[in-house]
Amino acid sequence: MSSSEYNAFQMAQEQFDRIADMLQLDSGVKDLLRNPMREYHFSIPVRMDDGTTKVFRGFRVQHNDARGPGKGGIRFHPLETIDTVRALSMWMTWKTAVVDIPLGGSKGGVICDPHNLSDRELERISRGWVRQISQNVGPLSDIPAPDIMTSPQIMLWMLDEFETLNRGKYPGFITGKPVGMGGSLGRTEATGYGVVFTIREALRDFDLKAANTTASVQGFGNVAQYAIQLYSQIGGTVIAVSCWDQKEQTSNTFRKSTGVKLEELQGITDRFGGIDKAKAKDLGYEILPGDDWLKQDVDILIPAALENQITVKNVEMMSKKVKIIAEGANGPTTPAADKVIESRNIFMIPDLLANAGGVTTSYFEQVQSNLNYYWDKDEVLGKLDTKMTSAYRAVSNLSMRKKMYMRDAAFITAVNRVVQACRERGWV
Ligand code: NAD
Repeated sequence: MSSSEYNAFQMAQEQFDRIADMLQLDSGVKDLLRNPMREYHFSIPVRMDDGTTKVFRGFRVQHNDARGPGKGGIRFHPLETIDTVRALSMWMTWKTAVVDIPLGGSKGGVICDPHNLSDRELERISRGWVRQISQNVGPLSDIPAPDIMTSPQIMLWMLDEFETLNRGKYPGFITGKPVGMGGSLGRTEATGYGVVFTIREALRDFDLKAANTTASVQGFGNVAQYAIQLYSQIGGTVIAVSCWDQKEQTSNTFRKSTGVKLEELQGITDRFGGIDKAKAKDLGYEILPGDDWLKQDVDILIPAALENQITVKNVEMMSKKVKIIAEGANGPTTPAADKVIESRNIFMIPDLLANAGGVTTSYFEQVQSNLNYYWDKDEVLGKLDTKMTSAYRAVSNLSMRKKMYMRDAAFITAVNRVVQACRERGWV
C-alpha cells in the first residue's frame, strides 16, 4: 500500500517461512499457512451524488479459521491491494493466536479514498460491500471490524445491511460499532492502550520508570492518540508525532521538546488524523520533515501509522538512545530493517503483540453482542489489561528463556497455536 517495490504479502510470507523453518514444519502445514484459505474479490457499483456510477473493487480474505471464526478489519484506502489484504489477514491469524482468543484471521478492503467521498457515497459503498460478501461472512464464520479510514458509523451501516439481508438482529456480525448500538465501551481506546500495556511491561523488565522516559510517535489517528493518552497518564513524555498532510501529500513531524499536549493537538486534527500545520505552528510546535519522528533522541518509538515505514533507507536515522520499539501499526518494519534493529539490541514489541488490544476488545465486543449484555468500561479495560499482560509475559518469557528476538518469540507462540489447532482438527 505504501510504495511500488514493497509487497506486504511477500513480507508476511517471508516472516512465516522463517518461523516455519525454525519450527521445522512439514511442507503440508507450510503450504496451508503461507496462503489464505479463501479470498473473495468483487465489484461494488455505486451511484455517486452527481448521478454517475462508479465501480469500486472490494475484497475479503480469510487466511485461517482453525481456532475460531475469522476476525479482521476492513480498510478503505486508495492504494489498497489484494496483497496488502492477504498479508493483513495472515497477521490477524497470528495476532488472535498470540493473545489466545478463540478467533482466526481475516481482512477486507475497498479501493477508494474517503477524503473525496460524501457520507451518502460512503454509506452506499459500505452497504455494497456487505451485499457482495454477506453469504461468506457472519457472526459464526467471519466477523469484520474497522481499520484505516473506516469508522463506527460505517460498521453500523454494514450491520444494518447484513441484518436487512438476513432478516434478524445479529449484533455479533461486526465489531467497532458505536457505543449504544452494540459497540463495546473501551473499544476506541483499546489498541492504543494495549500498546501502552505492553510498553509498561517492557519498562518493568528494563527496571525503568515511565516518568523518566520519552517517546516519539508516527501517526496521529486512533491508535496513536490513545497510546499517547495512556503513556502520558503513566508519566511518559511524547516529544514528537508525525502524520500525513492530505493537502500537501506528504508527512510532517510536529515536535515540542517539553512534550506534545494531546488535547491541544486533537483540537486541530481532522477526522483522518491530519494535524493542521499552520495552527500547530501557532501553538509553538516545530514542523519537521515526515521521517524526523524516527530521528528523535527518545527511549521509545511507536510507529502507529501504516506498514513499510521503518526500512533500510531510514533505519540508520534512529537515535542511539532508542531502547524500545512498540509497533502500533501493522507491519511498520521491513524484514531488512528489522535485522538492523535486532543487531542493535533494541527491544522490539512486535505488531502482532503490541497492537492486539484492538482485536482483543473486538472479541469482548462480540461476546457482549452475542449475549446482548454490556460491561462497563473499567471491566472491559481491566480484562484487556489482563489479556495483554499475560500475552506479553508468555512471549517475553519465551524470548528470555531461548534468548530469542521478541518478534520471533511472538511468531513462534502464535504459529505453534495455529498449527496445533489445524492438526487437532485433522486438517494437516
Ligand atoms: P487512522 O486512520 O486513525 O490513523 C492513521 C494515522 O497515520 C493518521 O494520523 C495519518 O495522518 C497517519 N499517516 C498516514 N500516512 C502517514 C505517513 N506516511 N507518515 C506519517 N503518518 C501517516 O488509523 P489507525 O486506526 O490509528 O491505525 C494505524 C495503524 O494501526 C494501521 O497500521 C492499522 O492497521 C493498525 N491497527 C489499528 C487498529 C485499530 O484498532 N484502529 C488495530 C490494530 C492495528
